[in-house]
Amino acid sequence: MKIKVNQDPLISANEVTDEKLLEVKGLEKHFPIKKGFFQRTVGSVKAVDDISFYVKKGETFGLVGESGCGKSTTGRTLMRLYEPTNGQIIFDGQDISNLKERKILPIRKDIQMVFQDPYSSLNPRKTIKTILSEPLQVHNLYKGKQRQEYIEDLMDKVGLNPDYVDRYPHEFSGGQRQRIGIARALTLNPKMIIGDEPVSALDVSVQSQILNLFKDLQGEFNLTYLFIAHDLGVVKHVSDRIGVMYLGKMMEIASKKDLYNEPLHPYTQALLSAVPRSHPTEVKRERIILKGEIPSPANPPKGCVFHTRCPAAMDTCKEIVPEFKEIKPNHFAACHLYE
Ligand code: SF4
Repeated sequence: MKIKVNQDPLISANEVTDEKLLEVKGLEKHFPIKKGFFQRTVGSVKAVDDISFYVKKGETFGLVGESGCGKSTTGRTLMRLYEPTNGQIIFDGQDISNLKERKILPIRKDIQMVFQDPYSSLNPRKTIKTILSEPLQVHNLYKGKQRQEYIEDLMDKVGLNPDYVDRYPHEFSGGQRQRIGIARALTLNPKMIIGDEPVSALDVSVQSQILNLFKDLQGEFNLTYLFIAHDLGVVKHVSDRIGVMYLGKMMEIASKKDLYNEPLHPYTQALLSAVPRSHPTEVKRERIILKGEIPSPANPPKGCVFHTRCPAAMDTCKEIVPEFKEIKPNHFAACHLYE
C-alpha cells in the first residue's frame, strides 16, 4: 500500500527542539481480570508493561505495532483517560501521572486526541459549528461573532469550506470527517496531538491528503505529535523518531532514518519487510513471515515476549527478559542478540 506525499519520506520537514514536551518513565497499564459471582480479581492483562520514551517539542514520535500491542492504551493513558497502574507521565515539566480529575482539565486543553473513526467520534445530532464550539464553551473562550469567525477560520485551515459550518457529520465524506476531527483537536490550540490510527479507516488516496494536512498544521500551530499506527508505511511519512511495541513492551526506538535503514530488533525487521519501498533510495528487503499468533497479554511468554515468534530466538530468550538499552547512539532495543 503506497502513500503519495510531497517529499522524500526519510527527510523531516518540521523543526524539532531538544526540549522534551512529554516524558514517559516505566509506564504500566494493567487491566484486572475478574471472575465469578464476587468478581474476584484472578489475574491481569498487561496492556502496557514498563515502557519509557520521550517526545521532543515540535517532534513527531510514531508508535507502531500490531493490534493488541498496547499502543492505543498507551495513548489513552497519556491523556489520563485511563489511570496508569505504575510509572510517570511528565508533560511540559509537570508530573501528571497522579493528578486528580479537577486538575487534569487544563492539561486536556494542551493534549488533544484525533481518533481512528471520525464518524463514531463525532456526535451525529450536532452540527459542525456546535461540535467545534463545545470546547470553546467549556474553557470560556471567544463569544458571539468572534467565536463564529474563529470556527470558520479553523475550518478553512483544515481544508473545509466554512460555508458548511451548519451541516451534520453524515453530510461529509470520511476524509472530510477526519478533517473535522482534526479541527476539533485544534480548537483549544493544544501543544500536543495524539493521533490514534487517524488515517487507518480512510482510503489510501485520502490517507495521503490527511497525512499532508497533519504535516502542514504542525508548522503552523507549533504542534508536537504522537502518531499511533499499526503500519510502519504510514508513520514513515510523518515521524521523526519511531517506537516499536510488541505485547505491551517497547522493542526498539530510533530515528526514522536509523530504524528504516538499519533496524536492530528482529520484530522491527519483520514489520519492515512487509512495507513496500516508496522511494528508490530505500533498502530492498527480503520478506520475513512471522510464525504463529500474538500471545495473549493476559498470559505473556516468559523471558523475551517475542521469543515464540522470533526467527533468531535462543535458549536464553525463553528465560531472561532482555534489557531495553542503547545499542548505538540514540538507537535503543530490547534484544539478547546485542549483549
Ligand atoms: Fe528474538 Fe531473543 Fe532478541 Fe527476543 S531477545 S527478539 S527472542 S533474539
